[in-house]
Amino acid sequence: MIGTDLTYDHAGFTCTGDTIMDKTTSPPPGDMPPEEFRRAGHLLIDWITDYLSTGPGEGVPILPGLAPGDTAARLPASAPATGVEFDRLFADFREILYPGFTHWNSPRYMAYFPSSASGPAVLGELLAAAVSQNCMLWRTSPAGTELEIRVLEWLRDMIGLPASFFGHIVDTASISSMLALAAAREYHHDLAIRTRGMAGRPELPQLTVYASEEAHSSIEKGAITLGFGVDGVRKIATDEIYRMRPDLLREAIEADRAAGRHPLAVVATVGTTSSTSIDPVPAIARICDEYGLWLHVDAAYGGVAAIVPEKRDVLAGCERADSFVVNPHKWLFTPMDCSTFFTRRPEVMRAAFSLVPEYLSSDRDADPALVNLMDYGIQLGRRFRSLKLWLVLAWFGSEGIAERLRHHMALASELAERIEAQEGVELMAPVNFATLCFRFHPGGAARGSEDEAVEETAVGDAGEPDEEAYETFNAAVMNRANESGEVFLSHTKLKGRYTLRLAIGHLRSSAEDVRAVWELLTTLADELRRGQ
Ligand code: PLP
Repeated sequence: MIGTDLTYDHAGFTCTGDTIMDKTTSPPPGDMPPEEFRRAGHLLIDWITDYLSTGPGEGVPILPGLAPGDTAARLPASAPATGVEFDRLFADFREILYPGFTHWNSPRYMAYFPSSASGPAVLGELLAAAVSQNCMLWRTSPAGTELEIRVLEWLRDMIGLPASFFGHIVDTASISSMLALAAAREYHHDLAIRTRGMAGRPELPQLTVYASEEAHSSIEKGAITLGFGVDGVRKIATDEIYRMRPDLLREAIEADRAAGRHPLAVVATVGTTSSTSIDPVPAIARICDEYGLWLHVDAAYGGVAAIVPEKRDVLAGCERADSFVVNPHKWLFTPMDCSTFFTRRPEVMRAAFSLVPEYLSSDRDADPALVNLMDYGIQLGRRFRSLKLWLVLAWFGSEGIAERLRHHMALASELAERIEAQEGVELMAPVNFATLCFRFHPGGAARGSEDEAVEETAVGDAGEPDEEAYETFNAAVMNRANESGEVFLSHTKLKGRYTLRLAIGHLRSSAEDVRAVWELLTTLADELRRGQ
Protein backbone atom coordinates (compact mmCIF):
# COMPACT_ATOMS: atom_id res chain seq x y z
CA MET A 1 0.00 0.00 0.00
CA ILE A 2 2.92 2.38 -0.33
CA GLY A 3 2.26 5.72 -1.98
CA THR A 4 -1.36 5.20 -3.02
CA ASP A 5 -2.28 8.85 -2.35
CA LEU A 6 0.79 10.28 -4.11
CA THR A 7 0.39 13.21 -6.46
CA TYR A 8 3.34 13.14 -8.80
CA ASP A 9 4.35 15.56 -11.49
CA HIS A 10 6.74 14.06 -13.96
CA ALA A 11 7.63 14.95 -17.53
CA GLY A 12 4.44 16.89 -18.05
CA PHE A 13 2.14 14.10 -16.81
CA THR A 14 0.15 14.42 -13.59
CA CYS A 15 -0.42 11.03 -12.00
CA THR A 16 -2.87 10.96 -9.11
CA GLY A 17 -3.66 7.92 -7.07
CA ASP A 18 -1.26 5.54 -8.87
CA THR A 19 0.74 3.19 -6.76
CA ILE A 20 4.53 3.30 -7.11
CA MET A 21 4.23 -0.27 -8.26
CA ASP A 22 2.00 0.87 -11.15
CA LYS A 23 4.54 3.46 -12.22
CA THR A 24 7.48 1.12 -12.23
CA THR A 25 5.69 -1.56 -14.17
CA SER A 26 4.27 0.78 -16.82
CA PRO A 27 6.62 1.67 -19.75
CA PRO A 28 9.06 4.53 -19.06
CA PRO A 29 8.20 7.92 -20.60
CA GLY A 30 11.31 7.34 -22.70
CA ASP A 31 13.06 9.11 -25.54
CA MET A 32 12.01 10.54 -28.90
CA PRO A 33 10.32 7.69 -30.80
CA PRO A 34 12.72 5.97 -33.24
CA GLU A 35 10.63 6.79 -36.31
CA GLU A 36 10.55 10.46 -35.39
CA PHE A 37 14.30 10.38 -34.78
CA ARG A 38 14.91 8.77 -38.16
CA ARG A 39 12.75 11.31 -39.99
CA ALA A 40 14.28 14.28 -38.16
CA GLY A 41 17.76 12.84 -38.62
CA HIS A 42 17.30 12.61 -42.38
CA LEU A 43 16.08 16.20 -42.45
CA LEU A 44 19.15 17.33 -40.55
CA ILE A 45 21.58 15.35 -42.66
CA ASP A 46 20.08 16.91 -45.79
CA TRP A 47 20.40 20.37 -44.28
CA ILE A 48 23.99 19.72 -43.12
CA THR A 49 24.95 18.31 -46.54
CA ASP A 50 23.83 21.54 -48.22
CA TYR A 51 25.48 23.70 -45.57
CA LEU A 52 28.81 21.90 -45.82
CA SER A 53 28.84 21.88 -49.59
CA THR A 54 27.53 25.34 -50.42
CA GLY A 55 28.32 27.37 -47.30
CA PRO A 56 26.06 29.84 -45.53
CA GLY A 57 24.07 30.69 -48.66
CA GLU A 58 23.58 33.60 -51.03
CA GLY A 59 23.35 36.92 -49.21
CA VAL A 60 23.99 35.44 -45.75
CA PRO A 61 26.69 37.53 -44.04
CA ILE A 62 29.70 35.67 -42.70
CA LEU A 63 29.75 37.98 -39.69
CA PRO A 64 26.13 38.70 -38.69
CA GLY A 65 25.27 42.36 -38.37
CA LEU A 66 23.35 41.94 -35.12
CA ALA A 67 23.37 43.93 -31.91
CA PRO A 68 23.96 42.23 -28.55
CA GLY A 69 20.66 40.82 -27.30
CA ASP A 70 19.02 40.50 -30.74
CA THR A 71 18.99 36.70 -30.65
CA ALA A 72 18.07 36.45 -26.97
CA ALA A 73 15.10 38.75 -27.59
CA ARG A 74 13.66 36.16 -29.97
CA LEU A 75 14.07 33.21 -27.60
CA PRO A 76 11.36 32.21 -25.10
CA ALA A 77 12.17 33.44 -21.60
CA SER A 78 11.56 30.05 -20.03
CA ALA A 79 11.65 26.42 -21.05
CA PRO A 80 8.39 24.84 -22.23
CA ALA A 81 6.55 22.70 -19.70
CA THR A 82 5.38 20.29 -22.35
CA GLY A 83 7.48 19.12 -25.25
CA VAL A 84 7.67 21.00 -28.53
CA GLU A 85 7.66 19.07 -31.78
CA PHE A 86 10.97 18.77 -33.57
CA ASP A 87 9.91 20.46 -36.81
CA ARG A 88 9.03 23.59 -34.88
CA LEU A 89 12.41 23.52 -33.10
CA PHE A 90 14.25 23.02 -36.37
CA ALA A 91 12.35 25.99 -37.82
CA ASP A 92 13.51 28.07 -34.82
CA PHE A 93 17.07 26.91 -35.47
CA ARG A 94 16.85 28.17 -39.03
CA GLU A 95 14.91 31.35 -38.37
CA ILE A 96 16.13 32.53 -34.96
CA LEU A 97 19.57 31.02 -34.47
CA TYR A 98 20.95 30.79 -38.00
CA PRO A 99 20.88 34.58 -38.57
CA GLY A 100 23.01 34.88 -35.43
CA PHE A 101 25.75 32.51 -36.56
CA THR A 102 29.22 33.68 -37.47
CA HIS A 103 30.03 31.36 -40.33
CA TRP A 104 33.27 29.73 -39.34
CA ASN A 105 32.38 27.12 -41.88
CA SER A 106 32.56 29.56 -44.80
CA PRO A 107 35.52 29.55 -47.22
CA ARG A 108 35.68 33.33 -46.77
CA TYR A 109 36.05 33.10 -43.02
CA MET A 110 39.61 34.44 -42.73
CA ALA A 111 39.64 35.91 -39.21
CA TYR A 112 41.76 34.69 -36.26
CA PHE A 113 42.54 31.10 -37.35
CA PRO A 114 39.83 29.38 -39.39
CA SER A 115 38.35 26.09 -38.29
CA SER A 116 36.55 23.83 -40.76
CA ALA A 117 33.98 21.26 -39.76
CA SER A 118 34.71 18.61 -42.39
CA GLY A 119 32.20 15.95 -43.38
CA PRO A 120 34.01 13.07 -41.63
CA ALA A 121 34.37 15.12 -38.44
CA VAL A 122 30.69 16.08 -38.40
CA LEU A 123 29.75 12.42 -38.78
CA GLY A 124 32.20 11.60 -36.00
CA GLU A 125 30.51 14.10 -33.67
CA LEU A 126 27.14 12.56 -34.45
CA LEU A 127 28.32 9.03 -33.76
CA ALA A 128 30.18 10.08 -30.61
CA ALA A 129 27.03 11.71 -29.26
CA ALA A 130 25.01 8.60 -30.01
CA VAL A 131 27.26 6.14 -28.20
CA SER A 132 27.79 8.60 -25.33
CA GLN A 133 31.17 7.39 -24.15
CA ASN A 134 32.96 8.87 -21.20
CA CYS A 135 36.67 8.21 -21.72
CA MET A 136 37.74 8.85 -18.14
CA LEU A 137 38.72 5.30 -17.16
CA TRP A 138 39.74 2.49 -19.44
CA ARG A 139 36.71 0.53 -18.32
CA THR A 140 34.29 3.37 -18.88
CA SER A 141 35.31 3.16 -22.54
CA PRO A 142 37.94 0.60 -23.50
CA ALA A 143 37.56 1.43 -27.20
CA GLY A 144 37.40 5.20 -26.58
CA THR A 145 40.57 5.06 -24.49
CA GLU A 146 42.49 2.90 -26.93
CA LEU A 147 41.31 4.79 -30.00
CA GLU A 148 42.42 8.08 -28.41
CA ILE A 149 45.88 6.73 -27.69
CA ARG A 150 46.22 5.16 -31.15
CA VAL A 151 44.95 8.21 -33.06
CA LEU A 152 47.38 10.43 -31.18
CA GLU A 153 50.18 8.05 -32.11
CA TRP A 154 49.11 8.51 -35.74
CA LEU A 155 49.11 12.29 -35.42
CA ARG A 156 52.43 12.24 -33.57
CA ASP A 157 53.99 10.21 -36.38
CA MET A 158 52.39 12.40 -39.04
CA ILE A 159 53.99 15.54 -37.60
CA GLY A 160 57.28 13.76 -36.92
CA LEU A 161 57.46 13.82 -33.12
CA PRO A 162 59.44 10.89 -31.69
CA ALA A 163 57.67 7.70 -30.58
CA SER A 164 58.58 8.51 -26.98
CA PHE A 165 55.77 11.11 -26.92
CA PHE A 166 52.48 10.09 -25.34
CA GLY A 167 49.38 11.99 -26.38
CA HIS A 168 45.90 12.63 -25.10
CA ILE A 169 43.11 14.96 -26.13
CA VAL A 170 42.17 18.13 -24.28
CA ASP A 171 39.43 20.63 -25.09
CA THR A 172 41.60 23.63 -26.00
CA ALA A 173 45.22 24.72 -26.30
CA SER A 174 44.65 27.11 -23.41
CA ILE A 175 43.98 24.20 -21.09
CA SER A 176 46.77 22.12 -22.68
CA SER A 177 49.28 24.87 -21.90
CA MET A 178 47.98 25.24 -18.38
CA LEU A 179 48.40 21.48 -17.86
CA ALA A 180 51.95 21.81 -19.19
CA LEU A 181 52.76 24.54 -16.67
CA ALA A 182 51.25 22.46 -13.87
CA ALA A 183 53.42 19.52 -14.98
CA ALA A 184 56.45 21.84 -15.02
CA ARG A 185 55.69 22.73 -11.41
CA GLU A 186 55.53 19.05 -10.50
CA TYR A 187 58.74 18.41 -12.44
CA HIS A 188 60.41 20.65 -9.86
CA HIS A 189 59.38 18.11 -7.29
CA ASP A 190 61.48 19.57 -4.47
CA LEU A 191 59.01 22.47 -4.29
CA ALA A 192 56.44 19.96 -2.94
CA ILE A 193 53.58 22.04 -4.28
CA ARG A 194 51.27 19.12 -4.90
CA THR A 195 51.39 18.27 -1.19
CA ARG A 196 51.94 21.57 0.50
CA GLY A 197 50.39 24.06 -1.90
CA MET A 198 51.78 27.56 -2.39
CA ALA A 199 49.93 29.75 0.07
CA GLY A 200 51.44 30.64 3.44
CA ARG A 201 54.93 29.48 2.49
CA PRO A 202 57.27 32.41 2.86
CA GLU A 203 60.23 30.18 1.98
CA LEU A 204 58.80 29.49 -1.50
CA PRO A 205 60.58 31.60 -4.11
CA GLN A 206 58.61 33.32 -6.85
CA LEU A 207 58.11 30.80 -9.65
CA THR A 208 58.72 32.14 -13.13
CA VAL A 209 57.86 31.03 -16.65
CA TYR A 210 59.21 32.48 -19.87
CA ALA A 211 57.44 33.09 -23.16
CA SER A 212 57.92 35.59 -25.93
CA GLU A 213 56.02 38.85 -26.02
CA GLU A 214 54.15 37.30 -28.96
CA ALA A 215 53.03 34.18 -27.02
CA HIS A 216 49.30 33.56 -26.72
CA SER A 217 47.46 35.11 -23.78
CA SER A 218 46.59 31.61 -22.55
CA ILE A 219 50.12 31.26 -21.17
CA GLU A 220 49.54 34.20 -18.86
CA LYS A 221 46.08 32.89 -17.98
CA GLY A 222 47.59 29.52 -17.08
CA ALA A 223 50.17 31.24 -14.89
CA ILE A 224 47.43 33.27 -13.20
CA THR A 225 45.38 30.13 -12.57
CA LEU A 226 48.32 28.21 -11.16
CA GLY A 227 49.29 30.95 -8.75
CA PHE A 228 52.49 32.14 -10.47
CA GLY A 229 50.73 35.42 -11.11
CA VAL A 230 51.10 37.83 -13.99
CA ASP A 231 54.40 38.88 -12.44
CA GLY A 232 55.61 35.29 -12.72
CA VAL A 233 55.51 35.47 -16.52
CA ARG A 234 58.57 36.91 -18.17
CA LYS A 235 57.79 38.18 -21.65
CA ILE A 236 60.92 37.89 -23.72
CA ALA A 237 61.37 40.41 -26.51
CA THR A 238 61.34 39.23 -30.11
CA ASP A 239 63.55 39.95 -33.09
CA GLU A 240 62.46 41.86 -36.18
CA ILE A 241 60.35 38.94 -37.39
CA TYR A 242 58.67 38.33 -34.03
CA ARG A 243 60.72 35.35 -32.85
CA MET A 244 61.79 34.99 -29.24
CA ARG A 245 65.38 36.10 -28.71
CA PRO A 246 67.30 33.29 -26.98
CA ASP A 247 70.01 35.69 -25.78
CA LEU A 248 67.38 37.70 -23.89
CA LEU A 249 65.80 34.52 -22.58
CA ARG A 250 69.11 33.49 -21.06
CA GLU A 251 69.60 36.94 -19.56
CA ALA A 252 66.14 36.87 -17.98
CA ILE A 253 66.72 33.42 -16.46
CA GLU A 254 70.08 34.50 -15.07
CA ALA A 255 68.60 37.68 -13.61
CA ASP A 256 65.77 35.77 -11.95
CA ARG A 257 68.10 33.21 -10.48
CA ALA A 258 70.38 35.93 -9.17
CA ALA A 259 67.35 37.58 -7.55
CA GLY A 260 66.38 34.34 -5.79
CA ARG A 261 63.43 33.50 -8.05
CA HIS A 262 62.81 29.98 -9.30
CA PRO A 263 62.60 29.56 -13.09
CA LEU A 264 60.28 26.68 -13.97
CA ALA A 265 59.47 26.53 -17.66
CA VAL A 266 59.84 28.10 -21.07
CA VAL A 267 57.00 28.23 -23.59
CA ALA A 268 58.11 28.44 -27.21
CA THR A 269 55.58 29.07 -29.95
CA VAL A 270 55.49 27.57 -33.44
CA GLY A 271 53.04 29.81 -35.25
CA THR A 272 52.31 32.77 -33.00
CA THR A 273 48.77 34.08 -32.99
CA SER A 274 49.47 37.50 -34.44
CA SER A 275 52.11 36.90 -37.09
CA THR A 276 52.61 33.07 -37.11
CA SER A 277 56.29 33.54 -36.28
CA ILE A 278 58.32 30.51 -35.24
CA ASP A 279 60.46 30.73 -32.13
CA PRO A 280 63.97 29.21 -32.44
CA VAL A 281 63.09 26.01 -30.60
CA PRO A 282 66.53 24.30 -30.91
CA ALA A 283 68.29 27.22 -29.21
CA ILE A 284 65.55 27.50 -26.58
CA ALA A 285 65.75 23.74 -25.93
CA ARG A 286 69.49 24.05 -25.26
CA ILE A 287 68.83 26.76 -22.67
CA CYS A 288 66.13 24.65 -21.03
CA ASP A 289 68.55 21.71 -20.78
CA GLU A 290 71.22 23.89 -19.31
CA TYR A 291 68.99 25.33 -16.59
CA GLY A 292 66.80 22.26 -16.02
CA LEU A 293 63.61 23.96 -17.21
CA TRP A 294 60.50 22.34 -18.67
CA LEU A 295 60.08 23.19 -22.34
CA HIS A 296 56.50 23.48 -23.58
CA VAL A 297 55.89 24.14 -27.28
CA ASP A 298 52.66 25.86 -28.24
CA ALA A 299 52.15 24.76 -31.84
CA ALA A 300 48.38 25.14 -31.58
CA TYR A 301 48.19 26.63 -35.06
CA GLY A 302 51.47 25.84 -36.81
CA GLY A 303 52.05 22.23 -35.72
CA VAL A 304 49.85 20.61 -38.36
CA ALA A 305 51.96 22.14 -41.13
CA ALA A 306 54.56 19.46 -40.34
CA ILE A 307 52.20 16.92 -41.92
CA VAL A 308 53.38 18.39 -45.23
CA PRO A 309 56.73 16.64 -45.79
CA GLU A 310 58.48 19.75 -47.14
CA LYS A 311 57.36 21.73 -44.04
CA ARG A 312 58.65 19.24 -41.46
CA ASP A 313 61.35 21.65 -40.38
CA VAL A 314 58.82 23.98 -38.73
CA LEU A 315 59.02 21.58 -35.79
CA ALA A 316 62.83 21.47 -35.66
CA GLY A 317 63.88 21.06 -32.04
CA CYS A 318 60.40 20.07 -30.84
CA GLU A 319 61.61 16.52 -30.27
CA ARG A 320 63.38 18.00 -27.24
CA ALA A 321 60.21 19.52 -25.80
CA ASP A 322 58.80 18.14 -22.58
CA SER A 323 55.30 18.91 -23.76
CA PHE A 324 53.74 20.03 -27.00
CA VAL A 325 50.28 21.13 -28.09
CA VAL A 326 48.69 21.23 -31.53
CA ASN A 327 45.02 21.94 -32.23
CA PRO A 328 43.14 19.88 -34.80
CA HIS A 329 40.31 22.36 -34.22
CA LYS A 330 42.34 25.04 -35.92
CA TRP A 331 43.82 23.88 -39.21
CA LEU A 332 43.05 20.17 -39.24
CA PHE A 333 39.43 20.16 -40.40
CA THR A 334 38.04 19.18 -37.01
CA PRO A 335 35.33 21.34 -35.41
CA MET A 336 35.61 22.71 -31.88
CA ASP A 337 36.78 21.30 -29.66
CA CYS A 338 39.89 19.18 -30.10
CA SER A 339 43.36 20.02 -28.86
CA THR A 340 46.07 17.38 -28.70
CA PHE A 341 48.64 17.35 -25.94
CA PHE A 342 51.86 15.35 -26.24
CA THR A 343 54.51 14.78 -23.62
CA ARG A 344 57.66 12.73 -23.37
CA ARG A 345 57.21 12.72 -19.61
CA PRO A 346 53.84 11.06 -19.05
CA GLU A 347 55.00 10.00 -15.59
CA VAL A 348 55.27 13.66 -14.58
CA MET A 349 51.74 14.29 -15.84
CA ARG A 350 50.51 11.41 -13.72
CA ALA A 351 52.49 12.65 -10.71
CA ALA A 352 50.83 16.04 -11.15
CA PHE A 353 47.27 14.87 -11.73
CA SER A 354 46.57 11.29 -10.75
CA LEU A 355 44.26 10.97 -7.76
CA VAL A 356 42.12 7.84 -7.51
CA PRO A 357 39.31 7.80 -4.99
CA GLU A 358 37.86 4.44 -4.00
CA TYR A 359 34.81 4.80 -6.22
CA LEU A 360 37.00 5.11 -9.33
CA SER A 361 39.43 2.33 -8.49
CA SER A 362 39.24 -1.11 -10.05
CA ASP A 363 40.88 -4.46 -9.49
CA ARG A 364 42.77 -4.04 -12.76
CA ASP A 365 44.49 -0.78 -11.78
CA ALA A 366 47.80 -2.57 -11.25
CA ASP A 367 47.87 -3.80 -14.85
CA PRO A 368 50.68 -1.80 -16.53
CA ALA A 369 48.90 -2.00 -19.91
CA LEU A 370 45.86 -0.22 -18.52
CA VAL A 371 45.66 3.52 -19.11
CA ASN A 372 43.08 5.70 -17.38
CA LEU A 373 43.11 8.99 -19.25
CA MET A 374 41.69 10.87 -16.27
CA ASP A 375 45.21 10.57 -14.79
CA TYR A 376 46.68 13.07 -17.27
CA GLY A 377 44.63 16.15 -16.50
CA ILE A 378 42.13 17.80 -14.20
CA GLN A 379 38.80 16.73 -15.59
CA LEU A 380 37.21 13.41 -14.83
CA GLY A 381 34.53 13.15 -17.52
CA ARG A 382 36.11 13.20 -20.96
CA ARG A 383 34.30 13.50 -24.29
CA PHE A 384 34.85 10.94 -27.04
CA ARG A 385 36.75 13.43 -29.22
CA SER A 386 39.04 10.83 -30.74
CA LEU A 387 36.21 9.51 -32.90
CA LYS A 388 36.00 12.65 -35.04
CA LEU A 389 39.78 12.98 -35.16
CA TRP A 390 40.10 9.33 -36.22
CA LEU A 391 37.60 9.87 -39.01
CA VAL A 392 39.42 13.02 -40.18
CA LEU A 393 42.87 11.43 -40.20
CA ALA A 394 41.69 8.20 -41.77
CA TRP A 395 39.22 9.60 -44.29
CA PHE A 396 41.59 12.23 -45.70
CA GLY A 397 44.80 10.26 -45.08
CA SER A 398 48.11 11.99 -44.41
CA GLU A 399 48.64 12.71 -48.11
CA GLY A 400 45.14 14.08 -48.51
CA ILE A 401 45.66 16.37 -45.53
CA ALA A 402 49.09 17.45 -46.81
CA GLU A 403 47.58 18.26 -50.20
CA ARG A 404 44.96 20.53 -48.60
CA LEU A 405 47.42 22.30 -46.32
CA ARG A 406 49.81 22.76 -49.23
CA HIS A 407 46.99 24.31 -51.24
CA HIS A 408 46.31 26.86 -48.47
CA MET A 409 50.00 27.71 -48.21
CA ALA A 410 50.23 28.14 -51.98
CA LEU A 411 47.21 30.49 -51.95
CA ALA A 412 48.87 32.50 -49.18
CA SER A 413 52.21 32.77 -50.93
CA GLU A 414 50.57 33.80 -54.21
CA LEU A 415 48.71 36.55 -52.39
CA ALA A 416 51.93 37.58 -50.63
CA GLU A 417 53.63 37.97 -54.02
CA ARG A 418 50.73 40.05 -55.23
CA ILE A 419 50.89 42.29 -52.16
CA GLU A 420 54.62 42.75 -52.60
CA ALA A 421 54.08 43.84 -56.19
CA GLN A 422 51.17 46.17 -55.38
CA GLU A 423 51.55 49.81 -54.41
CA GLY A 424 49.89 51.22 -51.31
CA VAL A 425 50.00 48.04 -49.25
CA GLU A 426 52.80 46.28 -47.37
CA LEU A 427 53.36 42.88 -45.81
CA MET A 428 54.05 43.18 -42.10
CA ALA A 429 55.52 39.72 -41.43
CA PRO A 430 56.92 36.76 -43.32
CA VAL A 431 54.26 34.28 -44.43
CA ASN A 432 55.35 31.10 -42.66
CA PHE A 433 52.11 29.17 -43.10
CA ALA A 434 48.86 30.41 -44.65
CA THR A 435 48.23 33.62 -42.72
CA LEU A 436 49.10 37.05 -44.07
CA CYS A 437 49.75 40.20 -42.08
CA PHE A 438 49.57 43.43 -44.08
CA ARG A 439 48.40 46.98 -43.98
CA PHE A 440 47.29 49.55 -46.50
CA HIS A 441 48.98 52.89 -46.78
CA PRO A 442 46.42 55.55 -45.95
CA GLY A 443 47.74 57.97 -48.52
CA GLY A 444 48.63 55.60 -51.36
CA ALA A 445 47.41 56.31 -54.86
CA ALA A 446 43.91 55.02 -55.48
CA ARG A 447 43.81 52.54 -58.37
CA GLY A 448 42.43 53.95 -61.58
CA SER A 449 43.00 57.46 -60.33
CA GLU A 450 45.37 60.03 -61.77
CA ASP A 451 45.51 61.69 -58.37
CA GLU A 452 48.08 60.92 -55.77
CA ALA A 453 46.71 60.60 -52.24
CA VAL A 454 43.31 62.18 -52.16
CA GLU A 455 42.26 61.55 -48.60
CA GLU A 456 43.80 63.80 -45.99
CA THR A 457 45.96 61.88 -43.58
CA ALA A 458 47.94 62.93 -40.56
CA VAL A 459 51.47 63.20 -41.90
CA GLY A 460 54.61 63.08 -39.79
CA ASP A 461 57.79 65.08 -40.39
CA ALA A 462 59.15 62.63 -42.95
CA GLY A 463 55.93 62.78 -44.97
CA GLU A 464 54.92 59.36 -43.61
CA PRO A 465 51.41 59.01 -42.07
CA ASP A 466 51.61 58.49 -38.31
CA GLU A 467 50.64 55.27 -36.58
CA GLU A 468 47.21 56.58 -35.66
CA ALA A 469 46.45 57.34 -39.31
CA TYR A 470 47.42 53.79 -40.28
CA GLU A 471 45.21 52.39 -37.55
CA THR A 472 42.19 54.52 -38.43
CA PHE A 473 42.52 53.77 -42.11
CA ASN A 474 43.09 50.02 -41.85
CA ALA A 475 40.41 49.57 -39.19
CA ALA A 476 38.01 51.32 -41.57
CA VAL A 477 38.98 48.99 -44.44
CA MET A 478 38.47 45.95 -42.19
CA ASN A 479 35.17 47.16 -40.76
CA ARG A 480 33.76 47.90 -44.20
CA ALA A 481 34.90 44.50 -45.44
CA ASN A 482 33.32 42.73 -42.48
CA GLU A 483 30.13 44.76 -42.79
CA SER A 484 29.85 43.72 -46.43
CA GLY A 485 29.16 40.18 -45.21
CA GLU A 486 31.49 38.84 -47.92
CA VAL A 487 34.41 38.03 -45.64
CA PHE A 488 35.44 38.03 -42.01
CA LEU A 489 38.94 39.36 -41.23
CA SER A 490 40.59 40.31 -37.97
CA HIS A 491 43.50 42.51 -36.93
CA THR A 492 46.38 42.65 -34.51
CA LYS A 493 49.28 44.90 -33.56
CA LEU A 494 52.86 43.97 -34.35
CA LYS A 495 55.40 45.91 -32.34
CA GLY A 496 52.72 48.53 -31.83
CA ARG A 497 51.79 48.73 -35.52
CA TYR A 498 48.18 48.12 -36.49
CA THR A 499 48.03 45.16 -38.88
CA LEU A 500 45.30 43.34 -40.76
CA ARG A 501 45.36 39.54 -40.82
CA LEU A 502 44.01 37.26 -43.50
CA ALA A 503 44.13 33.60 -42.51
CA ILE A 504 43.50 31.01 -45.20
CA GLY A 505 42.59 27.65 -43.75
CA HIS A 506 39.07 26.64 -44.59
CA LEU A 507 38.80 23.34 -46.45
CA ARG A 508 36.89 24.89 -49.32
CA SER A 509 38.79 28.20 -49.65
CA SER A 510 39.74 28.55 -53.29
CA ALA A 511 41.91 30.82 -55.42
CA GLU A 512 38.69 32.55 -56.45
CA ASP A 513 37.79 33.25 -52.79
CA VAL A 514 41.20 34.74 -52.11
CA ARG A 515 41.11 36.79 -55.32
CA ALA A 516 37.60 38.11 -54.55
CA VAL A 517 38.50 39.02 -50.98
CA TRP A 518 41.67 40.79 -52.08
CA GLU A 519 39.78 42.69 -54.78
CA LEU A 520 37.21 43.76 -52.18
CA LEU A 521 39.87 44.98 -49.74
CA THR A 522 41.76 46.90 -52.42
CA THR A 523 38.56 48.50 -53.68
CA LEU A 524 37.56 49.52 -50.17
CA ALA A 525 41.00 51.02 -49.55
CA ASP A 526 40.69 52.96 -52.83
CA GLU A 527 37.23 54.23 -51.89
CA LEU A 528 38.44 55.37 -48.50
CA ARG A 529 41.40 57.16 -50.06
CA ARG A 530 38.98 58.97 -52.32
CA GLY A 531 37.04 59.96 -49.23
CA GLN A 532 34.00 57.91 -50.22
N1 PLP B 1 48.04 29.19 -28.81
C1 PLP B 1 48.06 29.82 -29.99
C2 PLP B 1 49.37 30.03 -30.69
C3 PLP B 1 46.88 30.30 -30.55
O1 PLP B 1 46.91 30.97 -31.71
C4 PLP B 1 45.66 30.09 -29.86
C5 PLP B 1 44.39 30.57 -30.42
O2 PLP B 1 44.32 31.14 -31.48
C6 PLP B 1 45.69 29.42 -28.64
C7 PLP B 1 46.90 28.98 -28.14
C8 PLP B 1 44.43 29.17 -27.86
O3 PLP B 1 43.71 28.15 -28.46
P1 PLP B 1 42.39 27.57 -27.80
O4 PLP B 1 41.26 28.38 -28.32
O5 PLP B 1 42.35 26.15 -28.26
O6 PLP B 1 42.52 27.68 -26.32
